[in-house]
Amino acid sequence: MIPAIRGTHDILPGEIERWQHAEQVIRDVCARYGYREIRTPVIEREELFAKGTGETTDIVQKEMYAFKDKGGERVTLRPEATPSMVRAYVEHALEQALPTVKLFGFGPMFRYERPQKGRYRQFHQLDVEVFGVSDATLDAEVIEMAAALVHGLGIEEAELVVNSVGCRECRPGFSRALLEALGERRADLCADCRRRSETNPLRIFDCKVPACQPIVDALPHSTDYLCEACAAHFAATTAQLTALELDYRVSHRLVRGLDYYARTTFEVLGSALGAQNALLGGGRYDGLVRQLGGPDRAGIGFAAGMERLVLAMPEGAGAPVPDAFVVALGETARPAAHVLARDLRHAGVTTLVDYDARSLRAQMKRADRSGARRVLILGDDELARGEVTVKDMESGEQAAVARAEVVQRMSG
Ligand code: AMP
Repeated sequence: MIPAIRGTHDILPGEIERWQHAEQVIRDVCARYGYREIRTPVIEREELFAKGTGETTDIVQKEMYAFKDKGGERVTLRPEATPSMVRAYVEHALEQALPTVKLFGFGPMFRYERPQKGRYRQFHQLDVEVFGVSDATLDAEVIEMAAALVHGLGIEEAELVVNSVGCRECRPGFSRALLEALGERRADLCADCRRRSETNPLRIFDCKVPACQPIVDALPHSTDYLCEACAAHFAATTAQLTALELDYRVSHRLVRGLDYYARTTFEVLGSALGAQNALLGGGRYDGLVRQLGGPDRAGIGFAAGMERLVLAMPEGAGAPVPDAFVVALGETARPAAHVLARDLRHAGVTTLVDYDARSLRAQMKRADRSGARRVLILGDDELARGEVTVKDMESGEQAAVARAEVVQRMSG
């Protein structure tokens, strides 16, 4: 037996229905907010992420599945979707093709991380991006849609946290304030944080090492160092979140691990997930499109972990419930029962049928286990009378229905 690669996983029947349900809910919600689907390749040039995600990020430095292809080109399996979305937006001049560029996509991402519950090396994300709109009403709309998605999946225990990390103008001042506040204590930080303090001090907020926590908790807050424009943007965003009646918490620790964020950042945390509790995260990235060779356009978006959404969904969500289970009794009735099943399916009725010619009791047991709403019994007697016995599994009521009418009754 050759097992699956560590950190990858199969999605089997029984579980796939939850995924399909999640994808369906997400597609419906995205459509209602004006988003269009896009599918980009899982393999891209390595430099797209070095430039886009950022040279100093853990993702680029440690986690990429990058290699030289047979033509000698440096390529990588994508570790995240945003740079690909930006590339596609620029490459196809989508702002000319679409009235507002609101995009969403699903697909696998690859990061060489240490696998644990809720953390994989191949995992799946929903990615949502909007290009060309700078106004704070959009920040609030995107955040509200993220919350609506989580709610739509039946996940009740979730917390929304927001922050602003400022822009290119005001962030250097905040980074300096962080280093000043750290002062002597820099030497007490973990090795990763000492490295971060040199490359990108904001990242220190991402640290999970217990010994660093008291130091990190005492650091200044980015929202106290925002320039006037960023402060106004953050105030407008939070005011609109309140107008949209969303519960949220401002968390100064929320800086997120990627380089391109500017101004608004947000996450939705699921309380039932343990250590890997972020269901989704995102923010504004106004300089990124330009940095990747496009026009100077604003951008904002988020990525949700599909594995984590599916894990947090309530039990039974998306479980397929057949409308009908056809029980065939007797040798003459069996072929006719399969014709009935075909007619029901063609009329849009989800129908299961038994193939084993077993006893009524055994077939009823299977019908019950399938969760079918109604059982249609077709025996030689019914066949002779031109009828079908229909049993409503919820009420237990049973009635004879003319074969000529049963399909219409079931689909009506
Ligand atoms: P990120 O792209 O790192 O901002 O992550 C966005 C979301 O993707 C997170 O909130 C998680 O739900 C999910 N995610 C990130 N990394 C992993 C992983 N290794 N395994 C499973 N889900 C992940």
